Amino acid sequence: MTQQVLTVLGSTGSIGVNTLDVVARHPEKFRIFALAGHKQVEKLAAQCVQFQPKYAVVADGEHAAKLAQQLAAAGCKTEVLHGAQALIDVASAAEVSGVMAAIVGAAGLPSALAAAQAGKTIYLANKETLVVAGALFMQTAAANGAKVLPIDSEHNAIFQVLPHDYQGRLNAHGIRSIILTASGGPFLHADLATFDRITPAQAVKHPNWSMGQKISVDSATMMNKGLELIEAHWLFHCPPDKLEVVIHPQSVIHSMVRYRDGSVLAQMGNPDMRTPIAYCLGLPERIESGVDALDFGSLGGLTFCEPDFKRFPCLKLAYDAMHAGGGAPCVLNAANEEAVSAFLAGAIRFTDIARVVAHALAQDFSDGLDSIEALLTQDAQTRADAQQYIAALGG
Ligand code: NAD
Ligand code: MG
Repeated sequence: MTQQVLTVLGSTGSIGVNTLDVVARHPEKFRIFALAGHKQVEKLAAQCVQFQPKYAVVADGEHAAKLAQQLAAAGCKTEVLHGAQALIDVASAAEVSGVMAAIVGAAGLPSALAAAQAGKTIYLANKETLVVAGALFMQTAAANGAKVLPIDSEHNAIFQVLPHDYQGRLNAHGIRSIILTASGGPFLHADLATFDRITPAQAVKHPNWSMGQKISVDSATMMNKGLELIEAHWLFHCPPDKLEVVIHPQSVIHSMVRYRDGSVLAQMGNPDMRTPIAYCLGLPERIESGVDALDFGSLGGLTFCEPDFKRFPCLKLAYDAMHAGGGAPCVLNAANEEAVSAFLAGAIRFTDIARVVAHALAQDFSDGLDSIEALLTQDAQTRADAQQYIAALGG
């Protein structure tokens, strides 16, 4: 294996930190070209000292000045860049072979798309890219020979149990359906009457996974599974009616593929993102990830149940947006991002998240938006409308 040269976008987040943990175990296999950490200057400075990337990218000039100062004090030669164009530049630089796309939200779309345009291997954690711009992103990747490898644990599991020569051919491979497992989050059994009073601190406390705040709230509303349905639809060229969701609270089975002959293939493991990260970074080799072996003796049992749309209206909204297609998933995502940040800021209630998204989707968005400009315009419009609605709800 020749040494891979990596850009890690969102290096200071949960996926970014796990990625660097795997990378550090294999210095002969990976070299870091660039790290991007937005506003988390201290963490990014420490990462630069450890990995000595050529570039570090932050949000703006103010954060760049702070980072440059810290790096100079530490004697680190990493050059500091800032702004959205810098993310695109380090994602598409000629030296780079692979890009970990681990920025949270639609903010990760332009850089992930740039990596696709530049024909890189894309380690895709940023599911919002596929929700907002699935068709455009997959077409761009295919047209430029970019490989898209799924980091999201469910999609990584599916990727592992699909035939290696799958190429979107469900029928030819005798595949009946793709099954996404979901933990159900922290409120799977909570009394529905208490949902209005759920606090941000309760919502970000996921029973099995340790993740960033936004995806943790999405897991609590199950919007996360909805986004993942749309993600799977694009990644695996899978029609909506061949996608299933099953709740599996232990998060040991990370997803499954159901075959025509009655077989169901599952991928299992401890809930630790270093497994899917190592799988993708190592391909075709299986490399050490630091994840403990699964201990069947201490598992107890694996259980399953159906999702309940009354408890999880966001999941239903995502199903509907997937079926509507066109610009609907972009609208779903933008409204959800605004609603989640308003909830985290204490401006609206937990149950208002679904209200904000439903309100945004009340119009017909099924017409396709086929350029990045059209998608970003829709994204901005939806956010502005959602903010108005949020202000009305909060007041
Ligand atoms: P996080 O909040 O922990 O980290 C986000 C990263 O993006 C940080 O480095 C942050 O500095 C950076 N960032 C934030 N806003 C930015 C902006 N506007 N521009 C540029 N950079 C910005 O999030 P996370 O949990 O690591 O999730 C990252 C992505 O991976 C999300 O799309 C999430 O859905 C997906 N994902 C995460 C997990 C997980 O276990 N955490 C699992 C599956 C998929
Ligand atoms: Mg997931």
